[in-house]
Amino acid sequence: MIYSCVNLHFTDFCNFNCSHCFVKKENNELSFEQLKIVVDKISNYYRENNIDGRINLAGGEPLLSRNIGNIIDYIYRKNIKVSIITNGYYLDESFIKSYGDKIDMIGISVDSLSFEGNMKIGRSYKANTLTREKIIYISSLIKGAGIRLKINTCLSKINCNEDFNLFINEIKPDRFKIFQMCCDETNSNSVSNEEVDVFLKRINYKYVYESSKDMEKSYVIIDSLGNVSTNNFHNSNISIFDYSLQEAIDILEINYMDYLKRYI
Ligand code: SF4
Repeated sequence: MIYSCVNLHFTDFCNFNCSHCFVKKENNELSFEQLKIVVDKISNYYRENNIDGRINLAGGEPLLSRNIGNIIDYIYRKNIKVSIITNGYYLDESFIKSYGDKIDMIGISVDSLSFEGNMKIGRSYKANTLTREKIIYISSLIKGAGIRLKINTCLSKINCNEDFNLFINEIKPDRFKIFQMCCDETNSNSVSNEEVDVFLKRINYKYVYESSKDMEKSYVIIDSLGNVSTNNFHNSNISIFDYSLQEAIDILEINYMDYLKRYI
């Protein structure tokens, strides 16, 4: 089976503290030397399988890493597409000016449009949240630089009654992805399938939806220790430093059809 996007969660560090976050905040981060080895292995995998692939830089918050520019440059020089998933807090004009021409897509996670909602979710840093105006501004920077814009929204009891229509129609992302909050069932903020349905029926913009079930075993993830996993994030001891990516993928039981649905 051929996988064309690898999610590189290379840093645990994040300025936010979302209640649904699945990253173990153990303060691990791959060094630039380690990242080069990882990218080389992904590059070999894409080349051997004749894939025009992508590396999705994620975290934690990738823009907090002092290596973010170096790693974008390195991936770009390998002729591999680069995308980034960010909480948007540190995204600014200077970053877009420096690296925008090397980035294929930027995804911003937007779970609430209100200060109160973001505070409840934990999307805040020193009591500052990402305002709707800031998201609209950085979205315009991204699109103005010719970079594809993606918005990721994770649905929970806290935000499932919010109306995203005006906002989403204003920024017009290339992709609007809505996830069902994925965490342990005892979490009181988890949304039911019925609550998700009500939210989705209200949306008047093209979206892609992933339930927590769809997400099971359908991602290829390399974490901040270099372990390769699927959605059982951090529960893997298959180190990319011990295996080729092909070998690691062969060991994992990834649901290839679900994977394909995501990227085609
Ligand atoms: S912004 Fe992302 S990485 Fe940071 S705490 Fe929230 S979900 Fe986790």
